[in-house]
Amino acid sequence: MSSRSGGSNCAIATCDLYSGKTKKIGMTDISFHRFPKDPDVQKIWTLKCKRGDSWNPSKSYICSKHFKSEDFVRDLKSELMGNKLSED
Ligand SMILES: [Zn+2]
Repeated sequence: MSSRSGGSNCAIATCDLYSGKTKKIGMTDISFHRFPKDPDVQKIWTLKCKRGDSWNPSKSYICSKHFKSEDFVRDLKSELMGNKLSED
C-alpha cells in the first residue's frame, strides 16, 4: 500500500504516461490500474510491460491505454471486479 503522492506512472516500457501528465494534457479517459495480487496474473502483466530493468510490479500501475486487447481486458476485469468464477 504505497501512498506516495507523486501520482502513478505506467509500467509499460514503451509508455510514458503518468497521472500528472494525463491530467495536464487532458487525457481524462486514461486511468491507472494497480497490478493484481495474484502472482500468475501479475506475471502476465509483467511480461506485457517488456521491461529490462528491475522494478517492483506490486507497486506499479498500467494505464488504461493498454487494455484494448480482449484478453487483457478480461484479465483486468476478472482481477479488479473480483468476478472470477468461484470454484469452491
Ligand atoms: Zn501506459
